[in-house]
Amino acid sequence: MNMYDSNIISNIMKDAGFDRTYDSSSAEIIIFYTCNVREKAAQRVFSNIGLLRSENTKVVAVGGCVPQAEKDEIFRYKHINIAFGPHAYHMLPTYVSRILSGETDRILDVTPLQPQKFNCCGSERTASHSEFVTIQEGCDNYCTYCIVPYTRGKEYSRPVADVISEVKMLLARGAQEITLLGQNVNSYNGEAPYINIGKPKGTWNFGRLLHEVASLDGLRRLRYTTSHPKDITADLMKQHAQIEAMVPFVHIPVQSGSDKILKLMNRRHTAQEYIDKLKAFRDICPDIQFSSDFIVGFPTETEDDFEGTLNLVREVRYICAYSFKYSPRNGTPAATMDGQVPDDIKIRRLSVLQNELMKSQRAHNEAIVGKTMEVLFDKVGRKGGQYVGKNVYMQSVVVASNETDLIGKFKMVLIEQAFQNSVFGSLI
Ligand code: SAH
Ligand code: SF4
Repeated sequence: MNMYDSNIISNIMKDAGFDRTYDSSSAEIIIFYTCNVREKAAQRVFSNIGLLRSENTKVVAVGGCVPQAEKDEIFRYKHINIAFGPHAYHMLPTYVSRILSGETDRILDVTPLQPQKFNCCGSERTASHSEFVTIQEGCDNYCTYCIVPYTRGKEYSRPVADVISEVKMLLARGAQEITLLGQNVNSYNGEAPYINIGKPKGTWNFGRLLHEVASLDGLRRLRYTTSHPKDITADLMKQHAQIEAMVPFVHIPVQSGSDKILKLMNRRHTAQEYIDKLKAFRDICPDIQFSSDFIVGFPTETEDDFEGTLNLVREVRYICAYSFKYSPRNGTPAATMDGQVPDDIKIRRLSVLQNELMKSQRAHNEAIVGKTMEVLFDKVGRKGGQYVGKNVYMQSVVVASNETDLIGKFKMVLIEQAFQNSVFGSLI
């Protein structure tokens, strides 16, 4: 979502007459867009401000969830001129002009979500072959470790008509793969597009939205991220089975395999309920694969609890996963729970878990050797003549080819060799 927001900011600034540069020493305005989910991400921005500022810098703007969460503290960092939350990016051109004109030297905007921000995407928004579209933002789940409900705010679903018109615009500009974005896309509940005379408009759920997006001309692949296990419904599984453009790959974060920890996290499901849902998904869509997020070292996590997580990983056989040490966030209930786990234990558990996850990723990479799969190419490889693309499972597929340009094209590839993070093959 930060990539999506940053891209929009870049377009809005372009409309306001500023060119983008990747050379920070010549930049007059430096904009940081920040994540506050873990402490490490938040700290990095402050060290980078010092590193990137130069004598040409006139404005430093820090946006996103760090200023939203630390509004009272943010100006302790003296070089910052503008601090704006994730719901104020559309105001950035105005704020930059006010700083450049000398009217003021500090502006803070951490207003809650304003739906009008979604209508500001910049007139020159170009589309690559694979694009994101935010459909939902914010979260009402209040997992006890998580800062997101306090930074991105309450759940808000964009109206169906707005989502459809953004997807149509991107498809018309060359996009072929769309990823629908939100903190919890599967709890989507957006205003319906049609008026039935005499009746209220009502809302559409996620399954119905998927159906509509998938019917648009030019869409080859449809993805979404991220989803909460409790909102994975039988209806959603059915949409996967019916809609051809839906990729058979879903990110369903579980965080832990211990029921005690899941309860303390306020995840509202048990490990077995999660496993049963994934089994039901596999029954309906035999080629479906899953990825997940994990937190190790949540307060009171014992070796037994951690073993539960390892067992769940062995049972589900994820093809990819993100795993983190628990990071206490100010203002969240878990930050003040008894039983905080020492860092050396978190480090060890993270490494054991990552080893297990790597084994199952490697096994999946090996299992597709000999298969023919469609790949959407998105960049050149490290060696001359190589191209790299993604199959439906988001695996990086590398081929050697004499064709002049494969980027943005779908091609069938025979997978021949598997590595830890990629597979190699040849064009059919
Ligand atoms: N809405 C998504 C996740 C958003 S945050 C969901 O519920 O799945 C992305 C991931 O960051 C989470 O899934 C979790 O694994 C991790 N995360 C969030 N808060 C964290 C914290 N305080 N410490 C460590 N990891 C955290
Ligand atoms: Fe955070 Fe996701 Fe839980 Fe919402 S559902 S509180 S975003 S981890």
